[in-house]
Amino acid sequence: MSAPMAASLRHGASSDIGRVREVQEDSLLVSPPLFAVADGMGGHSAGDVASRLALDVLSGDGPRDLNMLREAVVRANRAIYEKAGSSPGLSGMGTTITAMLAGDHTAGIAHVGDSRAYLLREGELQRLTEDHTVIERMVREGRLRAEDAAHHPQRSILERALGVDGDVEVDVSEIDLRAGDRILLCTDGLTGLVDEDEIREVLRSEEDPARASDRLVAAAVQAGGHDNVTAVVVYYAAGRPTVRETVTVPAVRRRSRRLLLTLVSLGLLIVAAGLGTRAALAGSFYVASHEGRIAVFRGIPGSVAGIELHRIERTTSLRVDSLPEYYRRQLADGIRARDETDAERIIRNLRSLEEPPPAPAVEPTQP
Ligand code: CA
Repeated sequence: MSAPMAASLRHGASSDIGRVREVQEDSLLVSPPLFAVADGMGGHSAGDVASRLALDVLSGDGPRDLNMLREAVVRANRAIYEKAGSSPGLSGMGTTITAMLAGDHTAGIAHVGDSRAYLLREGELQRLTEDHTVIERMVREGRLRAEDAAHHPQRSILERALGVDGDVEVDVSEIDLRAGDRILLCTDGLTGLVDEDEIREVLRSEEDPARASDRLVAAAVQAGGHDNVTAVVVYYAAGRPTVRETVTVPAVRRRSRRLLLTLVSLGLLIVAAGLGTRAALAGSFYVASHEGRIAVFRGIPGSVAGIELHRIERTTSLRVDSLPEYYRRQLADGIRARDETDAERIIRNLRSLEEPPPAPAVEPTQP
């Protein structure tokens, strides 16, 4: 007598450096039931170090539930942040991550950045993740139209990424899996060039997940390929019979599968590259004036197309007009800080420069 049929996951994964970039900064992880994509950023090939490190930590952790998956992403963030801080050539590196852990009847998603997860169910494509970009936030807040966001030149500016701060907020969600569900994890090199109608058509029509991932990546390269592009496709075939006694099986199966990790790390080309268009706003700080007082800002000064690229972290009691002229001028542009601690140090230094308020005007004494 045969054992109950196991839930069946079939997968495909493809990646391409694209036509323009000299470094492959995307990485992908295929280690059933764990799958992930990561899109690195940072100059001088630091981006590929960040994306590979994120997925190395993830696969090494071997999460078995959604909470463990979230914790693994938090650990990946910490690992990248510490490595960036200890290696001058890697400072400022970061990465997105979108990971899926499939169970028998559910899939957990953990996500930071602007890579995406999609679900094709009964012919309809749903997006499972939110982009952590300035532009998408503006759309959510009703300040920018979705159709203007899709091709906005600043759409890649991230508000959240791994490695830019010691802590990171991870979006986690869980979906029920149904027979026939098809899931796509991809970097923005795909979604920036291939629209959702085309993604849906490929996932809907292609019975082989490996061919689906190949076709999606090829479509992005054909459409211009101005970015690295990566797609991981997972097809969830017939579910197992809902027999309770089989429930303990997955843990054992997953442990043994961990021995068969197939970590596919990309991006071995070491070619110096510029910073590109991505910037991690969340990890940038500066000190400037706000309504006459000194404040710590997170992000970078200025705005893009009317969209502010910063927010106030903390306002102090220190008045700008109590400072020497030279510092007032500097504060008008904003004084960049390496991190939040550095911003506090700058404020302490400014405090020490504070000039006493002008003495109250004294009535001239009559001779
Ligand atoms: Ca990208």
